[in-house]
Amino acid sequence: MTINSRLVAFLLASTVCLVTVAFLSVLDTAEPKELVLVGCLSFASVFLLSYVAFEFLIFREIKNLTEAIDKINRKGFKGQVSERLASSPSTNPLRLVRNEIEAYAGRKQKEIDELKKLEIFRREFIADVSHELKTPLFAAQGFVLTLLDGAVDDEAVRYKFLKKAAKSLDGLSMLIQDLLTLGQIESGDITMHFEDLDLTALARDIFDQLEAKAKKRGSEMVLLAPPGQPLWVHADYTRLGQVLTNLLGNAIKYGKEEGRVTLELLPQPGRVTVRVSDDGPGIAKEHLKRIFERFYRVEKSRSRQQGGSGLGLAIVKHILEKHQAPISVSSELGQGTTFTFDLPLVDGH
Ligand code: ADP
Repeated sequence: MTINSRLVAFLLASTVCLVTVAFLSVLDTAEPKELVLVGCLSFASVFLLSYVAFEFLIFREIKNLTEAIDKINRKGFKGQVSERLASSPSTNPLRLVRNEIEAYAGRKQKEIDELKKLEIFRREFIADVSHELKTPLFAAQGFVLTLLDGAVDDEAVRYKFLKKAAKSLDGLSMLIQDLLTLGQIESGDITMHFEDLDLTALARDIFDQLEAKAKKRGSEMVLLAPPGQPLWVHADYTRLGQVLTNLLGNAIKYGKEEGRVTLELLPQPGRVTVRVSDDGPGIAKEHLKRIFERFYRVEKSRSRQQGGSGLGLAIVKHILEKHQAPISVSSELGQGTTFTFDLPLVDGH
């Protein structure tokens, strides 16, 4: 037999009716007809009252509660708790308990979803890293094994293969270095050394460092900055240098041969806009929003051939985030690509 509001109301009404009739009979003040009438009236009123109270205040809420828990058990909780809670403020303690449970389950579900996402991300990351490490390592191993198999006796082949093995190992070491940098920036292990620095002077240093690379591809490097006017920004010299190196390096690598790579430092009121552009083949729209992801490459083989780790732009994005300077990119196929970010100018120099 299941206990429901009707049964409880019936039992309660019967008890009250019996007690009332028994009490009146003992007093011996009422006629049998009146006793029946009083009995019926007390039964009906107590039954109605308790049925309504139990059904609407307790049993229905308990049913809702069990349904809610059942739903959570069966398929997790994706309910729009906040809107529902907001639309049904209540003073009923059972409803409050239900709302609390739903809100708690909603919060937990969000955490679970987040953890699931992180787990997928972690798995993909490990797969990517393993793949990226494997490629240069296996290539170097191949060259060394071929040499050991006898190619070492051929002087021309020996030198060529050793050079190729060294290039693969260079790529591996660069990849590991980039991975370490990215990990340290993300985990906050790297402390940024913020100082006031002249952006134009930093840009000139980076231009000097990239001169040989640009020469190799016949690229023309152009620095557009206000002449004779230092641009003071508050930044980490080494890290901001790395941002410029990566962006300009990419513009040289992926821009067209004998193309033009431009770094523009455009002072605005209170800030300076930094713009790195090239006149290369550009990046298609579908790739554009993904190029800041780790290991994302537009043309995989070409990027690897150019010595790219696939982490350069992820590092740029993270460093600039630490400088509160979000980066944006625009590109036109066949026209070129432009990366832009703003840094606040500092006064008092
Ligand atoms: P990588 O280390 O392989 O160069 P990045 O993270 O620096 O990786 O860049 C991601 C991808 O974005 C590159 O593999 C390349 O395909 C594309 N890319 C970056 N900069 C440019 C650019 N200036 N022009 C065209 N493609 C670019």
